[in-house]
Amino acid sequence: MSTPPTPSDPEALRRRYAAERDKRIRPDGNAQYVEPTGRFASLLEDPYVTPTDRPARTDEVEVAVIGGGFAGLTTGAMLRTAGIDDLVIIEAGGGLGGVWYWNRYPGAMCDTAAMIYLPLLEEVGALPSAKYVAAPEIHAHALRIAEHYDLEARSLLSTRVTAVTWEEGASRWRIETDRGDVIRARFVTMGTGPLHRPKLPGIPGIETFSGACFHTSRWDWSVTGGDPSGAPMASLGDKRVGIIGTGATAVQAIPALARDAGELFVFQRTPSSVDVRGNHPIDPDLGDRLEPGWQTEWLRNFATLQTGGHAEVDLVEDGWTDISKRIWDRIRQRIGTEIDMAVIREAYEEADDEKMSEIRARVDAVVEDPATAEALKPWYRQLCKRPCFHDDYLDAFNRPTVHLVDTDGRGVEAIDATGVWVGGGHLELDCLIFASGFEVGTPYARRCGYETVGRDGETLSEHWADGMSTLHGMHVSGFPNLFIIGHSQGANLISNITHNLTEAGRTAAAVIARASELGAIEVEATVEAEAAWIAPIAAAERGMLGSDECTPGYYNNEGGPIGRREKLNGGGYQAGPVAFFDYIGRWRTSPELPGLELRGADGEVLV
Ligand code: NDP
Repeated sequence: MSTPPTPSDPEALRRRYAAERDKRIRPDGNAQYVEPTGRFASLLEDPYVTPTDRPARTDEVEVAVIGGGFAGLTTGAMLRTAGIDDLVIIEAGGGLGGVWYWNRYPGAMCDTAAMIYLPLLEEVGALPSAKYVAAPEIHAHALRIAEHYDLEARSLLSTRVTAVTWEEGASRWRIETDRGDVIRARFVTMGTGPLHRPKLPGIPGIETFSGACFHTSRWDWSVTGGDPSGAPMASLGDKRVGIIGTGATAVQAIPALARDAGELFVFQRTPSSVDVRGNHPIDPDLGDRLEPGWQTEWLRNFATLQTGGHAEVDLVEDGWTDISKRIWDRIRQRIGTEIDMAVIREAYEEADDEKMSEIRARVDAVVEDPATAEALKPWYRQLCKRPCFHDDYLDAFNRPTVHLVDTDGRGVEAIDATGVWVGGGHLELDCLIFASGFEVGTPYARRCGYETVGRDGETLSEHWADGMSTLHGMHVSGFPNLFIIGHSQGANLISNITHNLTEAGRTAAAVIARASELGAIEVEATVEAEAAWIAPIAAAERGMLGSDECTPGYYNNEGGPIGRREKLNGGGYQAGPVAFFDYIGRWRTSPELPGLELRGADGEVLV
């Protein structure tokens, strides 16, 4: 293993990948992570605002929108555009913005290009300042959408939903909250986010650390000093700071911590693949050159190129489209008129080997200490884990005050009052930061924080006991008038989540508008339509992504088995995101809305 394998030695590379993966497979899989309880229970709370008293609401609305992140905001915007104004957004945070309200860690930004990540730019008449923008600008854009569509006045903030229950006789949902509200709504949309509930590594002794300690999604600026706009974290200047985790969040936070901490210890289990980001300001005159409808065109162009389609021009030109163009160009060169899966796989592997060799070479080119450079190299296929893009991360390890503590795939062993144990050695720390990510594989109700009880008392957890089950990722039989706003079982375009959310909001608004046009009081997926929708998702191969050759992570159930449940929870429309967007665009404008039943007050099926 001492000589780094090159793409010209693919067999050696395969062996290295397998050995690295085997080192990381753990019998406890997802169960290695623990919920924030005890000392960490406050991680589920809002440190940014103190809720003000308000009277409980006990009224009725047409639509209750659960979640005030981009899912809820784009749904609210689409509802208002469709003329549906009687809505309430219920949001646990003290402000709107979802993930961009909660995540205020230093360096936070989105490495999906802002021209496509920021929803409804054209509608609200805005353009981003740079190709990739920082969290405060993204949060400001969320608030801009809220203002443009007058959503803040329609929001209940600092309000957690505690139960959502279908009232059969009234054909309405009853929504209860921790503020004593009991709101009845004809329709409910749920955009509670795929990655929002912080998780902690179940490291023995985690509760005992006596220094300052927090998770990246609840950054404690009172400990570090500084602020989310990038002011120096002066309080860390004489501190020994540890950060556990080197995923997409840590890659963004570490350069700022490296700049400001007296000493920084980065505890690494698996290195991320960190490619060039190449950020640059957006030309302020760009708006003058864009034609109406430009964002729809950019969104489609990105989704097409990112998922193997052909386009004359790459409008976004980023690391995501680069990964995909390389793979698909190679596949197109190799494949004849017949679809030959073996050839496709070979072409995919060649393109990936080339890309990952470049990423590893970049580590050598940037990181001065050879042992540190070696430890920072990722040995797995790029799409096994969330690809990262950053121009300062690797360079941070050239500072004498920054120490990479590579755990050779095993992770931190134990934590005690004064620090962290790794490889049998103890490191004293003043401050410990968990960049350990968010719950993914846990039950939906646990991640939402409430249960949804549908017709005949069936809970969504029961309905989804063997995996998510929907029509279009949105409608659930037995749960009338409920709309899930997400990406699973729909486009599943994970490289640009907001595209999924905006389209889902558009669909929900179209269905609700159609129901009111017809005077329908119930809208529900048929059992048959739901079964037909999920059958191909459950039957799909795992594909080349998240394959069982991948190093463990949340993309592949931490290396555990991928069965029906995992495929249903993580799968999407088999023909891909662009085909899904085309399909759902046609579907929502069809008068029949096939697969749904729209019923009138007397139970009569109207469509
Ligand atoms: P991740 O789940 O991606 O990363 C968690 C990290 O913690 C991993 O490096 C993991 O190691 C490590 N870890 C867990 N347990 C231990 C342990 N016992 N010892 C040492 N290390 C440990 O969480 P993130 O918050 O980084 O990212 C979550 C997601 O949020 C991303 O995948 C992305 O989808 C999104 N995101 C997007 C951004 C954007 O720019 N658009 C920016 C930031 C986040 P291992 O890899 O070995 O499991």
